[in-house]
Formats: sequence, C-alpha cells, structure tokens
Amino acid sequence: MKKISILGATGSIGQNTLDLITSTKDEFEVVALTGSQNIKLLAQSAIDSNAKIVATYDESKFNELKEILSGRNIKVLGGKNGILEASSAKVDWVMSAIVGSAGLLPGLTAMQAGANVALANKESMVAAGSIMKKVSQEKGVKLLPVDSEHSAVSQVIRGEDRETLEKIIITASGGAFRNRSIEELEKVTPYEASKHPNWDMGQRITIDSASLFNKALEIIEAKEFFNLNHSEINVLIHPQSIVHAIACFHDQGMKAHLGPADMKHAIAYALHEEKRFRLPLKEINLSEIGTLNFYEPDVTKYPALELGFNVIRHGGLAGAAFNAAKEEALDNFLNLKLSFLGMSDVVSATMDELTASNKLDQVVELEAVMEIDLLARSVAKQYVEKY
Ligand code: NAD
Ligand code: MG
Repeated sequence: MKKISILGATGSIGQNTLDLITSTKDEFEVVALTGSQNIKLLAQSAIDSNAKIVATYDESKFNELKEILSGRNIKVLGGKNGILEASSAKVDWVMSAIVGSAGLLPGLTAMQAGANVALANKESMVAAGSIMKKVSQEKGVKLLPVDSEHSAVSQVIRGEDRETLEKIIITASGGAFRNRSIEELEKVTPYEASKHPNWDMGQRITIDSASLFNKALEIIEAKEFFNLNHSEINVLIHPQSIVHAIACFHDQGMKAHLGPADMKHAIAYALHEEKRFRLPLKEINLSEIGTLNFYEPDVTKYPALELGFNVIRHGGLAGAAFNAAKEEALDNFLNLKLSFLGMSDVVSATMDELTASNKLDQVVELEAVMEIDLLARSVAKQYVEKY
C-alpha cells in the first residue's frame, strides 16, 4: 500500500485529494494530515481516512483537536513545529497543499524525508524554485505539478524532444471580473472577487484569479518546472477553461491539453505518478460547447501579469519578494484596507523599491528567501498605509 500524507488537508485541494483516496481505499494508507483553523473538518478527515498523525498550525486549537480525537490512536500535534513533524513522517507521497509561502518548509521537509511531492503549493516554487528542484534531485524524489496548467504542460511535452519545444501557452479563465471594465474594478469587494465562474477553489487563489496574480505566480512556476525563459511562456484568456495548456513546437505543430475544470483530474495524475486513472468526472462534450475562445489579456486591466514576467526576467530573490508582497496586499484587500486595483500598485511599488536597493540580487538560499519574504511584507505594508 502506498503511504501518503496531505499537508493542507482541510482546504479545497486537500479535500479533493482525500475524496480521490477514499474512493480507492485499499491502494493507499493515510499517515499524516495537517490543517489550521477548521478543526472539526480536520478531525473528521483524520477519523474517516484512518490517519495516524494529525497537526494543526493554529496552536490555540490544539486542545480542541486533542479532545475531539481522544481515545483514538492518533498522534496530535500543534504549531509550526507540529506541521513540520507531520511533514517529515515516512511516506511515499505527499500532497503539498498549504496555501501561501507557509507551504515552503513543509514541502521541503517532506522531500528531505524521502517522499515524492505533488505540488499544489505554487508559492514554494515561486519563492524558492531552485531550492525545491535541488532537494528533489539530491533526495531522488519526484516533484510533480498539480496546478492544472502545469499538469497539462507535463502531459503535452511528455515523450517530446525538449529541444523542439519553442514555447508554452497557459490559459487563464479571466476570473470573476473578466467582463468588467477597469473603472468597475475600482470598487469591487472581496466577496465579489471570491466567486469564480469556472473553478471551485480556496478564497485566496480565487481572488488571485480575478486579478491575474494567480497567473503571474503560474508563469513563474512554469519557468521553474520546465526551465523556460520569459519569452517561452505565453498567457491567453480562455473563458471556457477546457484547454489548460498548449505546447508549441518548432515545426509549428501544437499539442493542447483539454480537460475538465475539476482539480481531481490533475491531482489524480500526480497521485498515480503520471499514469492515467479512471475518474468519475463528467465527459467534456465538445459539440455541446461548440466554441473555444482565446484572446490576449488586457495589460492595463491586469498589471499583475507583467509584474510576473518582470520577476522571471530578474531572477534571484524576485520570486520570493513578489509572492510575499502579493500575500501582504491580498491580506489588506481582504481587510478592506486596500482596493482591488491597489493590490498591483502596492506590489509594483514594493518590487521597484527592492530592485533599486539591489536586495533581490542574492543567491536563492533558504535564509535569504525567508529574509526577503519578511522585508517584502514590511515594505508592502508601508505602501498600503500610504495608499
Ligand atoms: P485553501 O484555502 O482551501 O486551503 C488551504 C489549506 O492550508 C488549509 O488546509 C489550511 O488549513 C492550510 N493552511 C493555511 N494557512 C496555513 C499555515 N500558515 N500553516 C499551515 N497550514 C495552513 O486553499 P486551496 O485552494 O486548497 O489551495 C492550496 C494550494 O493549492 C495553494 O497554494 C493554491 O495556490 C494551490 N492551488 C489550488 C487550486 C484549487 O483548485 N484550489 C488549484 C491550483 C493550485
Ligand atoms: Mg492553475
């Protein structure tokens, strides 16, 4: 039986992963689950999946978790160290699905402990892609993409000669506000931004989809996963979310990946280590859909995308700073201290300041990544206050 752990088990990706596993129970043994705030769901998921270890990031919820699970043979852990201990459990496969840069150390810890890691937590690849790849190589463990676009890219380039690949195109649905004008975007609320037209995801990634910050993170993630430069990555708005990525080869042939807008597809592909597995998902009926549209993103409406390309051009610690500044800006949009469009203004100003002071030109080492993360958050906070 394959031993697995799920980091971020109470989230959208975590629960989708558990659903897949429980439908094929005799193939998998769940070892560790982690969560944070939603203790009831964490405890219930541990009971249902027969997990051996469960950890909550939120220490104030540790006693509640312990109480619900008392009398059961489940090790209960709390706090940051508890999450890291759960991440280091000896398993074959780990789903890294914590949201934000908080997922970096747990994902690295899982690889250090010898597990193949399915990476939903794109932020760790954005902030520290070279470290993630180095640890995966040194430990001889797989680092598998879970983001639908990156799973799609890995599926279309498989079996192809890497030298013949000219570029990739990843698609974006355009998120909640694809039909709104830039003037209308001035006044949109977190509640409106949290409604995705095609995908059912956690709140933060849903808002990032509306601003295209999610796509900005994804182009950086693509650069890291597939060793591409900025001119080899393109983004097209594709409102139907049927085509997730296209590989373009030097004979002008293109291979597109079409799949359901359901993360179970990409999770299962990573769970079965890039083998196809029968899934009870609705078949895509192309004649019913009729038309697939693609168009260039509006750069004035979505300044986040160009900020992402700048990160690729810059390299070094730019990814870590960009992600941290974006997380700070998003927190402040959620707290109603910053407008929707204010998020990209704050991230842009933060990146300009850190670039001008040469703070981003250091070697990507873990300590430097942690330091720039804190610095970018504090610089971004100052711009929020001035905004
Ligand atoms: P979510 O908000 O639904 O879940 C996040 C999980 O992380 C929860 O289990 C939460 O308890 C845990 N968590 C939050 N803060 C934590 C902290 N500081 N320490 C430890 N655990 C913490 O998020 P999600 O939508 O499932 O996304 C998870 C990751 O997957 C993100 O990186 C996201 O970008 C990526 N992703 C998600 C989707 C999707 O469809 N949801 C698609 C592609 C990629
Ligand atoms: Mg994606």
